[in-house]
Amino acid sequence: MAKICTIKCGYVSCYLIVESDTLVLVDTGNKGDFKRIIRQINKLGFSPEDISLIFLTHGHMDHAGCANRLKERYDIPIAMAEADVNATRPMEGRGSIGRMLKLLSRTSLNTKNNIMPDILLEEGADLSRYGLYADVLSLPGHTQGSMALLFDDGKFIAGDIFMNMSSPSIAHIAEDYPTLEQSVGRLRKLHPAVVYPGHGMPFGYSELPQSLMGKKDLPQK
Ligand SMILES: [Zn+2]
Repeated sequence: MAKICTIKCGYVSCYLIVESDTLVLVDTGNKGDFKRIIRQINKLGFSPEDISLIFLTHGHMDHAGCANRLKERYDIPIAMAEADVNATRPMEGRGSIGRMLKLLSRTSLNTKNNIMPDILLEEGADLSRYGLYADVLSLPGHTQGSMALLFDDGKFIAGDIFMNMSSPSIAHIAEDYPTLEQSVGRLRKLHPAVVYPGHGMPFGYSELPQSLMGKKDLPQK
C-alpha cells in the first residue's frame, strides 16, 4: 500500500508517494523551493533520482514552480492535464482567506507555467508503469485542468479542490465555483477517507463541514 509523505513548501503542500521502491512526486512548490524539496526528499531517506514521475495536480505556479527544473536535472517525466498547460485564467477569491490566498499567490496565478508535459493526464489514466496505482480523477473547478488521485484505501490527493488553511474546506479560490461544486458532489460518491490538500495539513474527509456537501457549500463572499 502506498505511503504518502508531505513535502512542505511554505504555504504549499506537495506529496511524495512511496510505493515499494518507486517514488512519485505530486506538485513541486514555487520556483524558489527547489533546494527545499530536495532536502526533504533526502531527509525522508530517498533520492530525487528515484522519482519516476512528477504528477501536477494543476498548473498554478505555486504547485508547478520547480517541475521544469526537476525534470531537467533528474530526467523525470511530467504529467498534467492539457487544459492547464500555459494557461492563466482569472480566479475568484472568496472570504478573507480567499482574498489573502489570491494576494499571496498573485505572481504564481498570473505566470504561465511554460511546462511541456510528457504525459497529458485524463480521467482514468493508467500510470502503473511509473509505479503509481491510484485512480486518476479529473475534478475541474479550481482550474479547468485540476486532477486528483484516489487510492484504494481512501487516501485522496486533492490538489487545490480542498484546502486546510485554518480548517478543512473547499478551495478558497477558483476559476469556476459551480464546476468545482459539481466535482465535489461527484467525489462524495467515491468515498475518500483522508484528504491531502494543496495547502495545509492532511485531514479526515469527515472533518469537512457537512454544509459543504450541499448547496451552502461555498465560503461566503
Ligand atoms: Zn491552485
